[in-house]
Amino acid sequence: MSVKRTTIVLFDVDGTLLSCGGAGRAAMRSAANALLGREDVFDFRFDGLTDYVIARRALVAAGREPSPAALDALIDRYLESLDPALERAPAFRVLPGVTSLLDALQGRGALVGLGTGNVERGARAKLARAGLAERFAFGGFGCDHEERAKLLEAGARRGRALAAGGACQVVVVGDTPHDVTAARAIGARVVAVATGRHDESALEGAAPDAVLSNLEHTRALDAILAA
Ligand SMILES: [Mg+2]
Repeated sequence: MSVKRTTIVLFDVDGTLLSCGGAGRAAMRSAANALLGREDVFDFRFDGLTDYVIARRALVAAGREPSPAALDALIDRYLESLDPALERAPAFRVLPGVTSLLDALQGRGALVGLGTGNVERGARAKLARAGLAERFAFGGFGCDHEERAKLLEAGARRGRALAAGGACQVVVVGDTPHDVTAARAIGARVVAVATGRHDESALEGAAPDAVLSNLEHTRALDAILAA
């Protein structure tokens, strides 16, 4: 007799479910401007980094001590700026295939959550703008831990709690090699999708279980649910 396992899916947000059209970066710049008096502290790409890693790098670039209080203040200011930045981001979009894939996963009984470097309030603001606010009952977030593997662990733990003790497999879906490495660190399967800045060959280099050009791909559901 085969034992039915529940699949816990942890979706990354930026570059995987949606593209913010620069709103996240604009909000970080606005926060740095307000608190550090300058916004030239982000000479790096944000993709795959957690919010607290981004804030830490900004503080160090500005010659400030990245104390917990300074980090929290920068993140709080970022969150204040995020809603208006999201509202005025004309290039904001939900990525191809996302809505129907979420429908299909729910139809197959998967537990669909988040595994994102965004702090929860930021993730929820972006998902609300995308019309996906109600889709994710749980997750691991950038406010759980600065390290991506640790926040995925938190998301997987919350998913397992919902599965009420049954057998589970955890699958991470993300758009960067950071998502792949962190998924491996917690022993999860991982599907990489080339809708962020990394193309398929760059993602192949991180050796995920599958690489998809986008989530509209006919293989997306099978790749995620593969035992
Ligand atoms: Mg991403």
